[in-house]
Amino acid sequence: MTKFEKLLDNKQLKKTIPRLKVLETLSSTEFASSQPFLEKTLGKTVDRVTLYRVLKSFENNGIIHKIIDDNGTANYAICKSDCNSVKHNHNHVHFICAICNKIYCLSNAPLIEYDFSDEFEIETIEVITRGKCKNCK
Ligand SMILES: [Zn+2]
Ligand SMILES: [Zn+2]
Ligand SMILES: [Zn+2]
Repeated sequence: MTKFEKLLDNKQLKKTIPRLKVLETLSSTEFASSQPFLEKTLGKTVDRVTLYRVLKSFENNGIIHKIIDDNGTANYAICKSDCNSVKHNHNHVHFICAICNKIYCLSNAPLIEYDFSDEFEIETIEVITRGKCKNCK
């Protein structure tokens, strides 16, 4: 079994070809993949509706997380293994390159934990940093 098949098994998702293809594509880049990028890369192997469904099920099961870029486009990155359907734990900062617009997960940049529990119950914290990535510096 490949690591992607194992991942789907662990999440009790059926090991379908589109799911495996999407996982492969998402893992093949170090930056987050936008939906248009995935559509282009997957070509005819996964149609648009299937892609949408696969991404939704991955998101709901803690396999990927979404980062919205400046154009409002959703970008997807693979989650660390401790995410699940109940809790996505993205304790990291995101980086958007001003030149190539690619989005990176900065896994080594942990987020500050805030506690406003008497007033607000925080579910997600998103921190976006900007600059030039290593390819554009
Ligand atoms: Zn997650
Ligand atoms: Zn760049
Ligand atoms: Zn991330």
